Amino acid sequence: MLDLLRNITQEVNAAPSLQEAMDLVVLRVCESMSVKVCSLYLRDEGERFVLRATKGLNKSAIGSVSMTQNQGLVGYVAKRGEAINLENAEVHSRYLYFPETGEERFASFLGVPVIHQRIVLGVLAVQQSQRRRFDESEEALLLTLSAQLSGIIAHAKATGDLELYTEESADARFKGMPGVYGIAIGQAVVYSPTADLTSVPFQRIEDIDKEIAFFHEALTVTREEIKALGDKLQDRLTTKERALFDVYSAMLDDTSMIREVKAIIRKSIAAPYAWSQVILKHVQTFSTMHDPYLRERSADMRDLGRRVLAYLQQSVEKERTYPDNTILVGDELTASVLGEIPQDKLVGLVSVKGSANSHMAILAKTMGIPTVMGAADLPFTQIDGSPTIVDGYRGTVYINPNDDVVAEFKALLREDEAIVKKYESLRDLPCETLDKHRVPLWVNTGLMADVTRSIQRGAEGVGLYRTEVPFLLRDSFPTESEQSNIYREQLAAFAPHAVTMRTLDIGGDKPLSYFPIKEANPFLGWRGIRITLDHPEIFLAQIRAMMRASEGLDNLRIMLPMVSAIPELEEAQVLIRRAYNELVEEGLMIEMPPVGVMIEVPAAVYQAREIAARSDFLSVGSNDLTQYLLAVDRNNAQVAGLFNSYHPAVLQALKVVVASAHSQDTPVSICGEMAGEPGSAILLMAMGFDVLSMNSTNLPKIKSVIRTITLEQAESLLEQVLLLPDAQAVSECVNNALTEFGFASRPKSLMI
Ligand code: PEP
Ligand code: MG
Repeated sequence: MLDLLRNITQEVNAAPSLQEAMDLVVLRVCESMSVKVCSLYLRDEGERFVLRATKGLNKSAIGSVSMTQNQGLVGYVAKRGEAINLENAEVHSRYLYFPETGEERFASFLGVPVIHQRIVLGVLAVQQSQRRRFDESEEALLLTLSAQLSGIIAHAKATGDLELYTEESADARFKGMPGVYGIAIGQAVVYSPTADLTSVPFQRIEDIDKEIAFFHEALTVTREEIKALGDKLQDRLTTKERALFDVYSAMLDDTSMIREVKAIIRKSIAAPYAWSQVILKHVQTFSTMHDPYLRERSADMRDLGRRVLAYLQQSVEKERTYPDNTILVGDELTASVLGEIPQDKLVGLVSVKGSANSHMAILAKTMGIPTVMGAADLPFTQIDGSPTIVDGYRGTVYINPNDDVVAEFKALLREDEAIVKKYESLRDLPCETLDKHRVPLWVNTGLMADVTRSIQRGAEGVGLYRTEVPFLLRDSFPTESEQSNIYREQLAAFAPHAVTMRTLDIGGDKPLSYFPIKEANPFLGWRGIRITLDHPEIFLAQIRAMMRASEGLDNLRIMLPMVSAIPELEEAQVLIRRAYNELVEEGLMIEMPPVGVMIEVPAAVYQAREIAARSDFLSVGSNDLTQYLLAVDRNNAQVAGLFNSYHPAVLQALKVVVASAHSQDTPVSICGEMAGEPGSAILLMAMGFDVLSMNSTNLPKIKSVIRTITLEQAESLLEQVLLLPDAQAVSECVNNALTEFGFASRPKSLMI
């Protein structure tokens, strides 16, 4: 069954259009279950389930036969959201006969819902004339198929919507999640990682002959590369292995494949896209073959495809220019990709994968770039160059928006800018409540660009400098002196204010290209302090670089990420002390910096008192703490709805940390995204956090909300929410309170 499922899903995945995907589904179901009829109904905008594909019923009924969820057996399956298996369908009270389907009287019926992200998208049904209840294995097969196909159908449906747009001039919109609040109006630029066949953007070209010549050049260069590689390894290869190089060469000489690519290019389509489509088609064909030898050729085909593609892309990349209002779109944008785009051109970001808590989104927040994350159904390869709007408030992307939509968003953008201006006027005012309770607001930084912005916005210190950012933007580990120069810039810019430098926090979703880590569970694996303690040479170089950079400024604080046990803290302290002694012996005039610990795993919450007793400060990393307390991957769009720092468990944990720190007279700050969110900032202040550290974009907003209320009001709100049972209730309670306080942080029409 697994093979069967794999083959069907692969085939459907590769179908060029929604209709072809649906036709394939019904055909393959009929074949594999040996039934006469299989039909697929999809829900339309008006909540009707419309016959969209069938094998066995009258094809002319496609598009015309439809029913609500209160009609017919199909409607019944949709309404109940579960499988219905009937030996004699005709006698069921919900049975409805549609003569236009040409339906003979089929006795048995098995229907399963097609559900994607809790929503019933449609119904997949099989029928047969023989009166026999479908057995359990058949039901299981149809259910499994439907579950596997739901994502593909949702995606294909969205792609289909886009195709519909270009033909009929309606605007297309795609749902994701808010990543960074704000609005951007611009032009999509699709980012595709080099040699990734599945994310090559569809692009048009003008000079067909030039493109074909370019394609031939790529083939020639790849052929030469392969030959050179084969010659070099000649003596070390067996005859069988040598034959592989011949297979590659033969594939590159395959005239029919070359002809196919050229035929696409002749339609004024760029070579990289044309090549990727042909290769993917052939990979698909090979991978579904029964013969194991031929099946293995699909891997060769893919490898070869990537080599040629890399050449095609490298040459194009050199000429790439970015429009002034670039909206960068990609399958999985990463923190390092952000560094590659000229900052003055970038106005918006859309990532198909990831969520608001991914590091890329956090970095985008510090840069203040409106972002939509997890736009899973966006057919991103098809929209390069299209006019695009990013609504980071509601997590929606508009492709080719019509004039009304553009006008609406231009007005919102103006409103948005007015709000930002209003906040800017607070810059030189203190961050204090109406009853004069002072709350120091610090910033989280990573890039040098954050520094200017942060100072402009009145930051009183740096609560988290993510040192991994400069590491992520390079091809190899920076040397001690290179690091020292980078750190010096940060320390000097903020002096005499404190700058909290976190030691290298890589692993998890922050892999360094030059330090690959392969793990089944990266977030539970080799991350943060675990890596640096295993590599004291990396840790010591970084600590020395920080201390060197602080000479004469003495505003450095060192912070350790991902600590889950006291020995980790103690080992790190020994190394830090060693680095300090060495530098002092070398003659450096420096003070021993305060060393603090991030509280971001549940174990650290329960040991916060012991950790606080042994360190100079604590800082809560609420992003990871939420992830680990709620067991929700912060990167996974599928479960992003469960990632909520208003969860009562998170709030209780935060209270414990504050009490534990203060019991040891150790100051405690918070540097996760919570601190930059108006509602939670009030709660954190009421809990007694000594410092709130956030991205600079949010700082003015937080200052504004704190200046709107009294500490007493905040404390009574906290008391109220701590009695509530779930995150949703907390969120509603906090939002109502914000409205009562008269606080608005986004254009009025976007208040929800
Ligand atoms: C956190 O986990 O809350 C945090 C501030 O660190 P990062 O987001 O960089 O993991
Ligand atoms: Mg963290």
